[in-house]
Amino acid sequence: MADTMSALVFLGAGKAGIVHKPIPVPGPNDAIVRTTAALICTSDVHTVRGAIEIPEGRGLGHESVGVIHALGPAVTGFEIGQRVAVGAITPCFRCGPCQRGFTSQCQGMLGGYKFTTQRDGNMAEYFLVNDATANLAPIPDDLPDAKAVYATDMLSTGFSGAENAELRLGETVAIFAQGPVGLAATIGCRLLGAGLVIAVEGKPDRQKLARRFGADIVIDPAEGDVVERVVELTGGVGVDAAIEAFGFPETFEAAIRVTKPGGRISNIGYHGENPNPLPVPLAPFGMGMSDKKILTALCPGGSERLARLFRLMLNGRVDPTPMTTHQFDFAEVERAFHLMETKAEGIIKPLILFP
Ligand SMILES: [Zn+2]
Ligand SMILES: [Zn+2]
Repeated sequence: MADTMSALVFLGAGKAGIVHKPIPVPGPNDAIVRTTAALICTSDVHTVRGAIEIPEGRGLGHESVGVIHALGPAVTGFEIGQRVAVGAITPCFRCGPCQRGFTSQCQGMLGGYKFTTQRDGNMAEYFLVNDATANLAPIPDDLPDAKAVYATDMLSTGFSGAENAELRLGETVAIFAQGPVGLAATIGCRLLGAGLVIAVEGKPDRQKLARRFGADIVIDPAEGDVVERVVELTGGVGVDAAIEAFGFPETFEAAIRVTKPGGRISNIGYHGENPNPLPVPLAPFGMGMSDKKILTALCPGGSERLARLFRLMLNGRVDPTPMTTHQFDFAEVERAFHLMETKAEGIIKPLILFP
């Protein structure tokens, strides 16, 4: 049927599958994008497991690029058929939090995250983009979809972790976990001029990528006490900044322990599956007076952010595609999603290509 499409949706506790849905219709400020490429995100695995409550049938996905299929009458500066990327976070850029500069918190806590939590996600043949004038980013001709798609979440999120680490040239940083977001944080710390990048990761394939992306030293947590090792590597003083990209209480606590007084703890890990408050160890936190800062972020969105990430890739500063361990046609997306759930076959990021 001409007006329907296939979409990967939540099918109730622990299940995801393809269903047919109507192609969305744009409101005045919206665009409809026909998807050409997408990445599967571990966040959706958390969501399907129940970390975020969503109705059955709600579309998954938030890391897609494509071409403009339809435009609302109020959207300016774009044409049907243009190649575009859309951030995982699609703020309105008008509300109070947006005007204060916290666009990821659009209209309330984490409210910039609209795909899947507020409406259908974009692991679908077509998807709706709210406030399209600010959220559609043209993809430069020389940038292939397989690269551009990394800007939508992985690079934006990972780099926000590095940016919040407030690194000055030559400083030291430790990054906890080298999943795709942690790897992107490693790339970001190297770009921002860290003098020593220490990555913490146990899986050999991810350790290898961490080195390739700029880690000077990779610590395997199975080989001893990580905190002791980081302190030792920094002459007993600790790192200037630590980035938590794992989402576990133990690594959050370790990030506080490894930073020197005045250090920054930058959290980009998702702690939604942990039922307890996060621990803050008092002695390494100076009993609350250590001048340490804890900074947090949710994937910055908007076309200006995407344009900057594209520039880094276009000019050869960054190539995230070694993270793409698997490639599937959209017809096989259920199998790809299952692989992401089990993390089998050394999967890091599966690229999904649309017909
Ligand atoms: Zn994601
Ligand atoms: Zn807003």
